[in-house]
Amino acid sequence: MLPFKLVYSEKYFLPIGEHVFRADKFRLIRERLLQQHAADESDFIVPDLASESDVTLVHSPHYVNKLMEGGLSAREELQMEIPYSPQVVDAFMLHTGGSILAAERALEDGVCMNMGGGFHHAFPDHGEGFCMINDFAVAIRVMQKRGKIRRAMTVDCDVHQGNGTAFIFGNSALKPNVLPSSSAPTLASVSGPGTSRANGADVFTISLHQEHNYPFVKPASSIDVNLPDGCGDTEYLAWLDNALSSGLRQFDPELICYVAGADPFSEDQLGGLNLTIEGLKQRDELVFRAARTRNIPVMTTYAGGYANHVEDTVTIHCNTVLAAAEVYRTATSDRPR
Ligand SMILES: [Zn+2]
Repeated sequence: MLPFKLVYSEKYFLPIGEHVFRADKFRLIRERLLQQHAADESDFIVPDLASESDVTLVHSPHYVNKLMEGGLSAREELQMEIPYSPQVVDAFMLHTGGSILAAERALEDGVCMNMGGGFHHAFPDHGEGFCMINDFAVAIRVMQKRGKIRRAMTVDCDVHQGNGTAFIFGNSALKPNVLPSSSAPTLASVSGPGTSRANGADVFTISLHQEHNYPFVKPASSIDVNLPDGCGDTEYLAWLDNALSSGLRQFDPELICYVAGADPFSEDQLGGLNLTIEGLKQRDELVFRAARTRNIPVMTTYAGGYANHVEDTVTIHCNTVLAAAEVYRTATSDRPR
């Protein structure tokens, strides 16, 4: 039995037809975990659909109405890059309910994983890049509304920048510093020590991503790490460590939302970084250790993963569970309750 819960529903499957986004990965991950006895049936909990009132904490009522009524224009559907259907909307509402449940359980148990979600390209008034509803942004706003937390941090390690998340939680009153573009990775923090953009903000956003990749317009996160093409394990892990340390010096979150995309993998069809499967597991361990040592609850979502062989995507996502199990099995006795 795992020292935390896995949020999953067989209805996480997205009926989007033949697509680079393998919507059966959620089921395959669950099956692999059970086959390998890394998890048992009692580790899984089933979410409810998010409510429209939850979703409108982040998304505009106009956009949510269009989703519910089938009123998206052809251009809006094209921008989403997945076909619209009421069944797809239901699946996204369920992934969002899953992130709400994962946030709740993380606050109780220290850690919880949504075996889906991570739809970080969804904006308040539109979806894009396979993302219809920004599930974990909704989960953060729901936790705040219920008075369970005031401050949260997103740590987005998908190969693509978390543009929707950055936009949703961005503070338009404070213009970020725009650092000159460089061939070396840039840690584009919008604030120096003592002048934190986090002052007054309630959500601090970190994104590590390939600079020369979708999305081509990148709204500023609190910290953006723009990685060069072909970046490998050692360099990536050093930048992640740097970003986490910097973020956690500037900001004191009561919940971390970790977006554990599998697409920084060297053999990903939509990514241009060069991480190994082992390097990605070390990435997961680094995030969980950073949260654990500071006693910050962490919830995880899966986001992207488009490896040439779907088995590799499944392995990378399963390893996130194994990494958390290794970190939290040793942590349960010394974590203050
Ligand atoms: Zn991605």
